[in-house]
Amino acid sequence: MDPRIFASEISVDHQEQTLTIKWGDGHASVYGLDGIRRACPCVECAGGHDQMGQEADPAIFKQPPAQTRQITSMQEMGNYAMQIFWGDGHDSGIYRWEYLRDLCPIENGITDSGS
Ligand SMILES: [Zn+2]
Repeated sequence: MDPRIFASEISVDHQEQTLTIKWGDGHASVYGLDGIRRACPCVECAGGHDQMGQEADPAIFKQPPAQTRQITSMQEMGNYAMQIFWGDGHDSGIYRWEYLRDLCPIENGITDSGS
């Protein structure tokens, strides 16, 4: 399996409102929770079947968070994706690792690495 899309460690910091994924190649992606929620790939959030498979623009992470988000749990799906359970009960988003890696705000030049 491609180490770029192998999540070795996942953590959520509700204080900082960030989701951090450490990848098999050593890179760590840090996402704003509101951005990740707005990038939800489920039919409801992505705007219907016509939009299925359409990926969110990483520029979504440039926007100031619209609201505080909470992740209650995360469930890995096989080895290709994870399902995120949000505090407001929304849980139909299946985030493929490849999708998440493509969205990495650091690699897309949206945010710096925080150092
Ligand atoms: Zn959704």
